Amino acid sequence: MKNTLINKVLILIFSLTSLSVLAQKKPKNVIFMIGDGMGIAQIYSGMVANGNTLALERCTHSGFSKTYSANDFTTDSGAGGTALACGVKTNNGMIGMSADSVAVESILELADRNSLATGIVVACALTHATPADYIAHQISRKMYDEIAADYLKTDIDVFIGGGRKYFENRTDERNLTNELKVKDYQIAYSLDEVKAVKSGKLAGLLYDDHNPAMPERGNMLPESTMAAIDILDNNKKGFFLMVEGSQIDWAGHDNNTKQLVKEVLDFDNTIGQVLDYAQKDGNTLVIITADHETGGMTILDGTFGKDDMKAVFTSKEHSGVPVPVFTYGPGAENFTGFMENVSFKAKIEKLLKLK
Ligand code: MG
Ligand code: ZN
Repeated sequence: MKNTLINKVLILIFSLTSLSVLAQKKPKNVIFMIGDGMGIAQIYSGMVANGNTLALERCTHSGFSKTYSANDFTTDSGAGGTALACGVKTNNGMIGMSADSVAVESILELADRNSLATGIVVACALTHATPADYIAHQISRKMYDEIAADYLKTDIDVFIGGGRKYFENRTDERNLTNELKVKDYQIAYSLDEVKAVKSGKLAGLLYDDHNPAMPERGNMLPESTMAAIDILDNNKKGFFLMVEGSQIDWAGHDNNTKQLVKEVLDFDNTIGQVLDYAQKDGNTLVIITADHETGGMTILDGTFGKDDMKAVFTSKEHSGVPVPVFTYGPGAENFTGFMENVSFKAKIEKLLKLK
C-alpha cells in the first residue's frame, strides 16, 4: 500500500519533470544568420586561417539546405532568401513573392503580426536582396526605392545596415527617414548612434549605399547585432532577428580568398557573440546557414593559422550545391540531415507558436 503510493508519487514527479523538459524545448527568440554565398569551403577557409577553429563549431546540430530555385538549378539571393524567409521556391531575382508573383508573408512579418519584436542587421544596403526578402514584396531585386518603402509597411523594431540614399534621395522625392520619425523611429547614421539606443524603434542607416568591405567596416556587424538584440529582448513575448554576413558572397564572386577569409571571420565573430547571448539566455534558437554557395570553391592545401591557402574556384558565379546549416539552443535538433531551403519558415513558425 505504502509502496504503491510512493510509486504513484514518483511517477507523478517524473511526468511533471518530463513535461517541463519538453516545455523548455521551445525557444522564445530566433536569431537567423545568413552567410551569403557561404558554403563548406568558405567556412573552412575561415577556420584554417583562424588556426583550425571557429565560433560556429559551438553549434550542437548541423545539416544541409538544398538551394535550387523555382526556375533555376542555381539560385540567386532573391529566390534563395525568399525561400528561407517565406518558405516558397520562387524565380531568381524575385523578392518575397511566389513564382506567380503573389506576395508571401515572411517569417519576420509573421513574428511581427504575433507581437514579437523583429529586426534585420546586414553588412550591405538594407535594400539588397537578402534583407529585402524578409521585409519586401517586389517583382525584381533591383527595385531598391520600392524595397526601401516596404520597410514602412511593417512594424519592424530595428533595422541596421547601409542604403541611406534609397530612403532619402529617391526618384519619388519621398523622404522615408522623415516618415520613419513620424512612426517613432530613432534614426542612427553611425555605429556610435546605434549603440546609444537602448529601447524603442531604431533605423540604422549607416552608409549611403553598401557598407564597406572588411576591414574598413570594423566591428559594424557584431556590434550592430548585439545592439539590436539588446533592444529586441525588451519584448517579453520574444523576438525574431535576421543577421546577414552579406559580403562573403562578393569575395566569392571575386574569387578573392584573402578577402573571403576576412568576411567569414567577421561573420564568425558575430556568431560567437550571438552564441554567447543565446547560451546565457537559454531561450534563444540560433540558426546559421547560407542562401547558396558562391564560386564553386574548394581548398587543396593550406597551413592552419595562415590565410595563404591553396584555394581553387571553379566559377565567378553561384553554384548549385547544398549549403551547411548549424543550430544552437532550444529546438536545434529540428534542423538536421538534408533539408529544403523552404522548410525553415514552417519549423520556426511551429517552434515560436506563431499563428
Ligand atoms: Mg545577400
Ligand atoms: Zn552572389
